[in-house]
Amino acid sequence: AVPLVVARSTSLAAKYGLLIKNRNAFEDSRKITTVVFDKTGTLTMGKFEVSKVVPLKKGLEEGELIRMAAALEQKSEHPIASGILQKAKNLKIAIPPAADFKAITGEGVQATVEHKKVLVVSPGYLKENKITVPGDFKANDTETVVFVIIADELAGYIALSDEIRPESSGAIKALKQENIKSLLLTGDNLKVAASVSKTLGMDSFMAEVLPGQKQEKIKELQKKGEFVAMTGDGVNDAPALAQADIGIAVGSGSDIAAETAGIILVNSNPKDIVSLILFGKATYRKMI
Ligand code: ADP
Ligand code: MG
Repeated sequence: AVPLVVARSTSLAAKYGLLIKNRNAFEDSRKITTVVFDKTGTLTMGKFEVSKVVPLKKGLEEGELIRMAAALEQKSEHPIASGILQKAKNLKIAIPPAADFKAITGEGVQATVEHKKVLVVSPGYLKENKITVPGDFKANDTETVVFVIIADELAGYIALSDEIRPESSGAIKALKQENIKSLLLTGDNLKVAASVSKTLGMDSFMAEVLPGQKQEKIKELQKKGEFVAMTGDGVNDAPALAQADIGIAVGSGSDIAAETAGIILVNSNPKDIVSLILFGKATYRKMI
């Protein structure tokens, strides 16, 4: 039988914005020593707005760059896609169809548009494929940048901005008070990762991390003796959520993240992780 104090905890958990899918995850929450956070959609709102459109190819117009990028993004569910599609809508651009769509997980998207191969990808993808950007790309430290490649030619880039969730800072602070380390693991670029980590006072960060690498990093922490909780929202976070000792999905995120995690933050509020830990400690203390 389930001890009374534990049974009662389920309804109490709901009050704290927690959906406990796996009771062991709840019971083990008091052992957490490190919380690993995904950035986009987890510590930030995951609502991107296009702030700059910069063609790099001579004669190419901003509208054309958005038109091509939007063709691909209508098939993607990434928050970057919504930002680019919104921009196309604002500019009243008719979006052409895209064929052979393929997501390059953690790095971007690819498809054929008007018989041309088009990619919208991260700075990391350019580096890997040894594509150099003429001059430095001008983006603020807080902006996410994606590059548009049309017919094997670097056509331009789009900068997008997102907002840090108002509760994120308080969540990191409260974890620190409990002697729990916080680590940022993001697929986004180095500048943005550094800026978010610094703004929130996190212990460390890693940028341009691919989904498999997120999982590897968690394994590495576990080998060092850390008891790791991973918090994420994306399809790309699923392997890491499964690897972690406790997987915590953000309610507003993807179905795959929610299925993989043991606990769901119903209100998408990172501060509820702190409630989870304190509440877990209080619940199981009573049982000893
Ligand atoms: P995060 O870890 O911050 O949630 P992701 O792993 O989802 O980030 O994405 C990492 C990077 O891959 C993004 O910052 C972007 O550069 C690129 N990317 C992913 N999906 C898309 C997309 N649909 N369109 C353009 N770029 C994308
Ligand atoms: Mg994310």
